Amino acid sequence: MNTALSQWRQTLRSHAEFAAWHAANGAVLDDQWRPTIALQAALRDAKASASVPGYCWPCRAPSQFLYDLQYSNGRDVNWRERLVCTRCGLNNRLRLTVQVIEAEGLRGRGYLTEHVTPLARLLLERFPGLVTSEYLGPDHAPGQVSRQGIRHEDLCHLSLAGGSVDFVVSCDVLEHIPDYPAALCELARVLVPGGLALITVPFLPHAADNLVRARLEGGRVVHLLEPEYHGDPVGAREGVLCYYHFGWQLLGDLRRAGFADAWLDLYWSADYANLGGPQVFVMARR
Ligand SMILES: [Zn+2]
Repeated sequence: MNTALSQWRQTLRSHAEFAAWHAANGAVLDDQWRPTIALQAALRDAKASASVPGYCWPCRAPSQFLYDLQYSNGRDVNWRERLVCTRCGLNNRLRLTVQVIEAEGLRGRGYLTEHVTPLARLLLERFPGLVTSEYLGPDHAPGQVSRQGIRHEDLCHLSLAGGSVDFVVSCDVLEHIPDYPAALCELARVLVPGGLALITVPFLPHAADNLVRARLEGGRVVHLLEPEYHGDPVGAREGVLCYYHFGWQLLGDLRRAGFADAWLDLYWSADYANLGGPQVFVMARR
């Protein structure tokens, strides 16, 4: 990585590659973490918020990025979920998702595994014809459109035809699917050869294997760790259960699901206010 830049991207393909890269660049990563500590110190109490200036890629304009202790352990800012742009309302990882989509030059027919979110609204404006969906529950048929105009899809049984889309974007969905390898097979199936999947999930770059938080046994949920619920844009007040924090085994799972290549892109940028630790994007080419 070019450490002279106030932003960088690093592509890595295995846990071993990550370990070597991390060992070689630990001092730089520590340096880049230091301003984040100073930003965190600006929060005087649990209810405080503060902001940092930068350039918002989705807004294509300078902006301020709010941070506080929401979605945190009560002490450390959740940098991935905060740094919310005061103009477009997108947080760190979602602003970067838009940037990656546009910087990768994704074109043609796309499928986004969400619909009722600010990210979906923004991408629908920029990608006419983008297919968007939500999971509305087991009483809906794949592809069925609800009275509210929301298309239902189950990632393990998509209604999309094989080879019908050029790219797929899935943001923090797979960790809620017990049989996520089935979902990966479906994403590979609906992509054209050469098509790209862009996936974000809770990812533990130091872990070879997934951290399994819960699993299904005979249709019943068995919790192996303290249950963790994430916000559900279409329903359940308590949120949706998180089954996994992923490790590098996800890349092998993607290859087994039919992707020709799978890799991780790590991003960090002071200019674009992508602060905290590097943000992780899982990429796979059909
Ligand atoms: Zn913005």
